[in-house]
Amino acid sequence: MRCTIYMSNLCDIERKVLAGERLTFADGVQLFHHPNLPELGALADYVRRRKHPAPIVTYNFGRNVNYTNVCWVRCAFCAFYRPPGSGEGYVLSWEEIFRKVQELVEVGGDQPGSCELLLQGGLNPQLKIEYFEELFAALKARFPQVHLHALSATEIFYLARLSRLPLEETIRRLHAAGLDSIPGGGAEILVEEVRRQISPRKETPEQWLEVHRIAHQLGLNTTATMMYGSVETLEHRIEHLLRLRALQDESLAAGRGQFTAFIPWSFQPRGTALATRRPLKKTRGVDYLRTVAVARLLLDNIENLQASYVTQGPKIAQIGLKFGLNDFGSTMMEENVVRAAGTNFLLPVEELKRLIREAGYEPRRRNTRYELLE
Ligand code: SF4
Repeated sequence: MRCTIYMSNLCDIERKVLAGERLTFADGVQLFHHPNLPELGALADYVRRRKHPAPIVTYNFGRNVNYTNVCWVRCAFCAFYRPPGSGEGYVLSWEEIFRKVQELVEVGGDQPGSCELLLQGGLNPQLKIEYFEELFAALKARFPQVHLHALSATEIFYLARLSRLPLEETIRRLHAAGLDSIPGGGAEILVEEVRRQISPRKETPEQWLEVHRIAHQLGLNTTATMMYGSVETLEHRIEHLLRLRALQDESLAAGRGQFTAFIPWSFQPRGTALATRRPLKKTRGVDYLRTVAVARLLLDNIENLQASYVTQGPKIAQIGLKFGLNDFGSTMMEENVVRAAGTNFLLPVEELKRLIREAGYEPRRRNTRYELLE
């Protein structure tokens, strides 16, 4: 296969990409600063087509359920949490969680593992490991067709500390209770200097990576995310991507679990403490497209790049399919974290499929393991 684009001052990077060679940190810097966005997109699309030659874009049936908004961590970029003791804090009852999951299986639960429950929440000091073990076991007993994609590395790291357990035992117990895979939330930017400014009470980048490393060693798949557009530099974004790539190398060599997808999204400033401290604006769609393209080029060992239509809106997500994305994510049905910051772009499944077709691809349903479903 030959790339037909004219890459002006990116000849050396283009040569490496065509030869399947790995790009470096310096290449990442050059890509982020390349002035011609369509050229960058064409190169990322070339890699996307090499990895996924069929003109399809995948999606799955899923629902986000936020079991609690109580959180003591108070990240400066978060508009979702309520501190312990707040009158606006909640913990969903099991009945409420079951009702939401029932609605999910009614639309997408036609095959084993065919719909995804993304269960996440704040770091609530009242909820120890037994709460999750009982909840997961009850969910799996009632809804065997649900894939339980639950608890970010941040929640798992805190849960281990709160329950006074080693990380590995915590993940083993959650897995035994029904946890199928771990979502990539809580990564933000995996650079200490950035975390000190936006989430100083959270786990360190090394600890976030360690949760995923152990999960992969135990045979669990996870996803990886990046929340960009707050206080970080472009170099920080590249460092973040290269840290993910290095862990994926380790995990692929071990041959057990791995990162199945990478999902970047932009900081949503409205209602956050960070936006009141600094004049931060919502990043633009071109920044998203550039970030997606650079991620596709640097993350040569992560197969799937998922759109974040919830933060970018459907149009930018469609254009992103020409910048390296190959997946439209989940139908979601419900989303509370981004909505708390004033952004709300939920889409019904028929609309999601229409958008994929309109962009020139065939929509194909998948499960959380990225296996195509009929
Ligand atoms: S991002 Fe997560 S950990 Fe941070 S305050 Fe919000 S809910 Fe808590």
